[in-house]
Amino acid sequence: MENCLFCKIINGEIPSSKVYEDDEILAFKDISPMAPVHILIIPKTHIDGADKLNESNSAVVSKIFTVAAKLAEELKLENGFRIVTNVGEDGGQTVRHLHFHLLGGEKLNTKLC
Ligand code: AMP
Ligand code: ZN
Repeated sequence: MENCLFCKIINGEIPSSKVYEDDEILAFKDISPMAPVHILIIPKTHIDGADKLNESNSAVVSKIFTVAAKLAEELKLENGFRIVTNVGEDGGQTVRHLHFHLLGGEKLNTKLC
């Protein structure tokens, strides 16, 4: 997708600190971390956001959660972590390419919004 920041990260036009990659998924460090561990996990296929998931494109979400569990184990987040996806303007989504924030490494604020 042209002019999509995360598609540019996927195709290498914009650098990122990658922590995991396979054929379908990329995970990299958030540029403005909100916790000691703050990783973004994204599908390599452009999907605008969780509002655009459907029967034909949503299988990647379960793979993303599997990658999240592996990363959490590698990063020793045994005390817990949080996975967040913001959707659209009201949800605070600033990059319109589906992504999941993996947050942890400290006791997170329990206030959801
Ligand atoms: P959201 O606000 O949920 O759409 O999340 C977008 C996230 O992308 C924010 O947490 C940003 O800090 C992060 N971000 C923006 N640009 C970059 C970049 N070039 N590399 C890594 N993370 C980025
Ligand atoms: Zn994209």
